[in-house]
Amino acid sequence: MEKVIEIKHLNKSFGNHEVLRDVNFTVNKGEVVCLIGSSGSGKSTLLRCINLLEVPSGGEIIYNGENILNEKHDIKKYRTHLGMVFQQFNLFDNHNVLKNCMVGQQKVLKRSKEEAKQNALKYLKIVGMDQYINAKPRQLSGGQKQRVAIARALAMDPEVMLFDEPTSALDPEMVGEVLKVMRKLADEGNTMLIVTHEMEFAREVSDRIVFMDKGVIVEEGHPDQVLVNPKHDRTKEFLKRTL
Ligand code: ADP
Ligand code: MG
Repeated sequence: MEKVIEIKHLNKSFGNHEVLRDVNFTVNKGEVVCLIGSSGSGKSTLLRCINLLEVPSGGEIIYNGENILNEKHDIKKYRTHLGMVFQQFNLFDNHNVLKNCMVGQQKVLKRSKEEAKQNALKYLKIVGMDQYINAKPRQLSGGQKQRVAIARALAMDPEVMLFDEPTSALDPEMVGEVLKVMRKLADEGNTMLIVTHEMEFAREVSDRIVFMDKGVIVEEGHPDQVLVNPKHDRTKEFLKRTL
């Protein structure tokens, strides 16, 4: 299997608070990996280290065979290969839906306006938001905003999509529409690393589940193994509280 991202001995501390301790795992091409664990276990920090929104305190992040923490590495370029979707959407409130999905392509990838527009429309269609291209974010529901945020990330044609609890801020009736889009992306062979509390979804879509607790990876494996027959007591306790 082709490794896209390989995390080796990753550490992250805030002051003397160790938030990630010797984290090791791999995301292979075309794989969907779900990261689960209690609040405060370090899941967001791990994603933020992967896209360098946080600077790791130690360890390696290998992207397509190169350690991106190496000083020589072009971090800006690396970031363009990652699409990030946050809990709070982070759309540009002053831009309409279409423009939200175009600006990054034009500014970062230097695509022409027309090319950016066509690509934005393609992905807005995939997430079912092509009818709303002129709407401003405030006119949309949470589920619609999140689908636009997903289209915006996809429009950059990233190699890996990172999702940090994309449905946690949504009203329950809107969770399904966002999960449906993510399921479609997973079925289409996109490489995805997803932090989620949606266990049923995680079990259905993921090739692998990684369970984190207090900054360490406690266990990982096939969803049936981790969610149905967990090996560790910490995993069992977490699942008992969650399911
Ligand atoms: P999770 O996403 O699993 O809920 P986080 O990665 O957000 O966990 O947080 C893990 C720990 O790191 C928490 O104890 C949190 O308070 C701490 N933490 C996260 N970001 C910062 C920061 N910028 N400064 C200090 N502590 C932080
Ligand atoms: Mg988090």
